[in-house]
Amino acid sequence: MTKKISRRHFFNRSFGLGAGMLLFKNMAFSKSTENGKIPMIITSHTNQTGQKAIEMGWEILKKGGSVVDAVEKAANVIEVDPKDRSVGYGGFPNEEGIVQLDASIMDGKTYNAGAVACLENIKTPSSVARIVMERTDHVMLVGQDALRFARKWGFKEENLMTEETRKAWLRAREKMSDRDDWGPPDHLKDLKKKESGTEGAGAFEVPAHGTTNVLAVDANGDIAGITTTSGLGNKIPGRVGDSPIIGAGLYVDNEVGAAGATGRGEDVIKSCATYYIIMRMKQGRTPQQACEDALKMIVEKYKKVNPDFFPGEKFVAINKKGNFGCSNMPGRRKARLSMINADGFKIYTGTSLFS
Ligand code: ASP
Repeated sequence: MTKKISRRHFFNRSFGLGAGMLLFKNMAFSKSTENGKIPMIITSHTNQTGQKAIEMGWEILKKGGSVVDAVEKAANVIEVDPKDRSVGYGGFPNEEGIVQLDASIMDGKTYNAGAVACLENIKTPSSVARIVMERTDHVMLVGQDALRFARKWGFKEENLMTEETRKAWLRAREKMSDRDDWGPPDHLKDLKKKESGTEGAGAFEVPAHGTTNVLAVDANGDIAGITTTSGLGNKIPGRVGDSPIIGAGLYVDNEVGAAGATGRGEDVIKSCATYYIIMRMKQGRTPQQACEDALKMIVEKYKKVNPDFFPGEKFVAINKKGNFGCSNMPGRRKARLSMINADGFKIYTGTSLFS
């Protein structure tokens, strides 16, 4: 039997954080709501790229720009970062060594959504998703046809594999099984030492950090969101995760708020998790409580059919008033998100359930 690298293993890695603090003056346009403030933008990424991303989105929001522009430009910062191994350029490839990207966008004000799945060779899938949303009557385009569509809109085709991801993929491939013709783990012992000596420990590991969600609310209370990813490392070619599926990886309701998911997409799809989070908020739950409710709902389902299995999800959510929350399953790093409102940049730690 082929021994596969555990998917959950991918989600359990911790990630170095570059958390800084940026102070903003209280700006006249900012409104205090019950206990939140709008405008406001968050991302599930808590590294330096995540901070840069929401700073980019914040620049747009504080000038009264479009909330859709804010989430798109912010997501693009993460997508084009070659060091981010699970989103856009430099994202981790599938089992055939091909990077296939999934992304979705939703505009609360127009109740429109767009998505692409298994998109190859384009660094910014969320921008292609935005064109699907704004310039077609469809919600999702996939694979080679999504690529053809992107080409028509002038997106440049590029190799999404960096030297680092190419090597990481080869190593992962070699370690995957001792029943195929790829090198078994023993043969890697020396190589591993060499690699950690020259590039630093972990330089060739599979991605540590999942998908990114960017959610924002502008000063008028209009809401938008994006979820973008290269999906699970070593996935079967053609596999579509939760990220491009509206109601699974992303949902936005202008009357309520927005929610995004990262983690094992299969469970998120089956539980319509972000739609559930929005419905919970609609019933009066805070973003924090609603994220926790969704995790409990998934665990309840698995308890009945597979009590030993703990899926590895993290949910983030915001509401119309500028409140935010996040929660994840145990075994992963802390549940955190990055946020900017008129008070400045902050990394918020939510809850890890069941741990
Ligand atoms: N949710 C993503 C997927 O299943 C993976 C991730 O969040 O890392 O495609």
